[in-house]
Amino acid sequence: MGVKALKFGGSSVADGIQLGKIRDIIEAEPEGRYVVVSAPGKRFDGDSKITDLLLMCKAQADSNIPIEQLFQVIEDRYNAISMQLGIDVDLESEYKEILKNLNNGCSRDYIASRGEYLSARLIAEYLGYDFVDTCGLILFDNKGRLLSEETNSALSEELAKHDHAVLPGFYGSCKDSGEIKVFSRGGSDVSGALVARAVGADIYENWTDVSGLLMADPRVVKDPLPIGYISYLELRELSYMGASVLHEDAVFPVRQAGIPINIRNTNAPEDPGTIITTEGTYRDDRLLSGIAGKQPFTVISIYKNMMNKEVGFVRRTLAVLEDLGISFDHIPTGIDSLSVVIESSELEDKLDEVLTEFEQRLHPDEISVVSDIAMIAVVGAGLSKTIGAAAKITSALRDAGINIRMLNQGISEINVILGVDSPDFEPAIRAIYDAFTK
Ligand code: ASP
Repeated sequence: MGVKALKFGGSSVADGIQLGKIRDIIEAEPEGRYVVVSAPGKRFDGDSKITDLLLMCKAQADSNIPIEQLFQVIEDRYNAISMQLGIDVDLESEYKEILKNLNNGCSRDYIASRGEYLSARLIAEYLGYDFVDTCGLILFDNKGRLLSEETNSALSEELAKHDHAVLPGFYGSCKDSGEIKVFSRGGSDVSGALVARAVGADIYENWTDVSGLLMADPRVVKDPLPIGYISYLELRELSYMGASVLHEDAVFPVRQAGIPINIRNTNAPEDPGTIITTEGTYRDDRLLSGIAGKQPFTVISIYKNMMNKEVGFVRRTLAVLEDLGISFDHIPTGIDSLSVVIESSELEDKLDEVLTEFEQRLHPDEISVVSDIAMIAVVGAGLSKTIGAAAKITSALRDAGINIRMLNQGISEINVILGVDSPDFEPAIRAIYDAFTK
C-alpha cells in the first residue's frame, strides 16, 4: 500500500461538520496516513480565522488591554468542535498555559502557532491517529530560514515511528534556541509538503475549498474550466502572475522529490481536482493550461542612437534599478531602444529618481514612460511547439479590437506574455480564453 500525505486547510477544519467530511475522506483513503492541519478558518463570510484572533490577543496584550474576553472566543470555537464530535481531549490546561504565556509577553510566532497546535491535538484524537508536534522536527536557523535537510532527517526519523499521525501545520522551531518559529501566512501548505517528502509519499493531497485551479480567474471569465493537470513550471508562471492556490514555498520540497501535488476540495471530494507534477509526466502538448494577469505596470523606454554598439548599456540600466532597490519584470529590447517593465507598486515615489539616474548615467536621446499597462501570461506547455498558437492569441485580440502594447514569448517557452492598456485587461483575458476553449 502506498503512502499519502494530506493537508487540510483552515476552511476544511473550521467546524465539526467539516471535520466529519475529513474523516470520511480519510476512511476512503487508507493510504492517507500522515495528515497536516491548519488552524480553524472562516466558517462563513465575516467570520474570523483562529490565527487572526490569536494575533489580535497578542496585540491587545502588548497594549495592556485585557484579553480574557477575546481569548474566550477562541476557547469556545475549539470547545464547540470537541462537543460536536464527542472528542475527549483536555484542552483546559492548554488554554491556561497559552493565556499565561500571552500575559507574560510570549513571542508573536509562539502565539500564531497555537491555532494549529490545538487543531492537531483535537483532530488526532478524533481520527485516532498519533499527535506529532512539529516543534523540534521542522527546523529553522537563527535568521528564521528553513533548514531543509535537517528538517527532512528529523521528520523522517520521527514519522518512521508512527503508522498514522496528525501534525500541526505552519510552524516548527529554531534549531539552536528551540523557540517556536512560523512560516509566513498560509504556511501549513509548506509543512504538508515537508511531511510528504519526509515520508516519501506517492502524492501530496492538499485539501481546500475549491476543486483545484481554474484556467482563468472566475471574476473575469464566467465558469472557467478546471485545470486537470499542470506542471510545476506552468504553475510558477501562473502564480507569479497572480493565480493563487498554494503557498509558493510549498512547491520546492515536493518538486525536488518528484512528488505530485493534488489540490482537492473537502466539500466535493468526488472532484478529481488539479494534479501538479514534474514536467513531462503527463502529455505536455496542451496549448493552454491557464491565463493569469496583473496590473498596473509602468514601462520606461530608453532610446539612444547606436545603443546596440555600446558595451555595458543594459548593465548600467539595471544597475540604476538595483541601486534603488527596484525589481523589474521584463526588459524587451530593440536595436537602439530598451524598455523596462516594472510593477507600478515597485516605483511608488521613486519614478523621478529613476528617470534622473537614467539621464545621468545613460545619456539617452529620449526616455518615455507609459503607466497603466496590464500584463497577461498565457501559459501552456505546447504553446511554443504549435504553429499558429501566437496567431490565435493575436487574432483573438484583433477581433476584440484590443491593441497589443507588448508581446513576448517567454524563454521558458511555456508562456506568451502580453502587455495591454489597463482598461483592456479583462476583455483581453476573456478573448484569449474563448479563442482556446470554444
Ligand atoms: N493558520 C495560518 C494562517 O491562517 C496558516 C495556514 O492556515 O496555513 O495563515
